Amino acid sequence: MKTRTVPNRTYLTEKEMPEKWFNVRSAMKVKPEPMIHPGTKQPLGFKDIQPIFCDEVIRQELDNDTPYVDIPDEVLRYYRMFRPSPLCRAYELEAALDTPAKIYYKFEGNNTSGSHKLNSAAPQAYYAKKQGLKSITTETGAGQWGTALSMACAHFGLDLTVFMVKVSSEQKPYRKAVMETYGANVIASPSATTDIGKKLLADFPGTGGSLGCAISEAIEAAVKSGGSSRYTLGSVLNHVLLHQSVIGLESKAALEKLGEYPDIVIGCAGGGSNFGGIIAPFVKDKLDGKKVKLLAVEPANCPSLTKGKFEFDFGDTGKITPMMKMYTLGSEFIPPPDHAGGLRYHGMSPIISKLYEDKLIDAIAVPEQDVFKSARLFAKTETILPAPESAHAIHAAVLEAQNCKKTGEAKTIVFCLSGTGYFDLAAYVKNA
Ligand SMILES: *Cc1c(COP(=O)(O)O)cnc(C)c1O
Repeated sequence: MKTRTVPNRTYLTEKEMPEKWFNVRSAMKVKPEPMIHPGTKQPLGFKDIQPIFCDEVIRQELDNDTPYVDIPDEVLRYYRMFRPSPLCRAYELEAALDTPAKIYYKFEGNNTSGSHKLNSAAPQAYYAKKQGLKSITTETGAGQWGTALSMACAHFGLDLTVFMVKVSSEQKPYRKAVMETYGANVIASPSATTDIGKKLLADFPGTGGSLGCAISEAIEAAVKSGGSSRYTLGSVLNHVLLHQSVIGLESKAALEKLGEYPDIVIGCAGGGSNFGGIIAPFVKDKLDGKKVKLLAVEPANCPSLTKGKFEFDFGDTGKITPMMKMYTLGSEFIPPPDHAGGLRYHGMSPIISKLYEDKLIDAIAVPEQDVFKSARLFAKTETILPAPESAHAIHAAVLEAQNCKKTGEAKTIVFCLSGTGYFDLAAYVKNA
């Protein structure tokens, strides 16, 4: 048994919490490509996307240069109700693996959304309110983003319409109930409330919907509001990764308190926001010459980084979004049904894609069965029931720790435990 030299859980004090987000693009020598118009292929400027997103979010989206961005006081006050999140030392998991490695995880599931998504939902709702908007719209698949945004809208005083993929709303009725408890208007997509929805219902009666279709409906609802509403997205985009940098900044500060620096930083990658968040300050270190491995973990069923092409593609199946240069399986790709709902996206954040192209990060794809083995081991040893998405990161940490056992190296491994799996028990039953 190892002697326990550091606490099980390390928290920053409120004073030590970051008061600025870190913009990883400012450190990148070659920036990610801007979004382009699918017809003209010209980069999109502020005015082009103003009908869709709220102004401050667009400024952040287009800003490749400002390194540190102030977190507004109102958002900091909200953050302090669920942050800092703990940096946990996985002593029990280490013991079960009999590894010399030191494993840490940053636990982001300690809020009602059960995930890191609240870190970006809060500022997005705040900026919309500050601009004088009445409402915002969004889509949700697995339900974590819709839940986070309903919480943030309830706090900042905004109406919210969530287009929830119809099959998900039927499979996860309690996710819908949570969003409604916080006051959101949840509509099963496709719906008869939008032109795109009506057309889909006519063309494909009985369809269970898709994320791509729900995105199209949410954008249409915002654009047709006559200016009182905007659309919001919970992953992929640059401003979302900016907000999620709070995960990495807190992790790095907590590690410093313990006198640690990671050899490996791991995150699961769906659209890339929790991974982009935890690696943000370490990307800068790596560009400054530090040696650190940054590892994205994706499902074998939806391997955009490891099997996709790096090219301009649409963000949705309906092809109504701008095009982004990213690793993509093609906007028509429908991943086979598996249970990591939040990782089932055909593309990858343009920032993460560019870092991968430039060999600053690594990526692996792992099969669902193995992921659930590691999820159960983690639940039994560390007490927390992980989200199936987060379990991809756990599995990669387990593989790295097993490798350390072979080589005898005591590497320091840090991963992002992006959320909890209480709404995903069907997935645990299926993978028992
Ligand atoms: C949404 C979600 C993910 C995947 O999204 P990223 O943008 O890749 O972080 C991962 N884990 C959890 C718990 C989620 O809710």
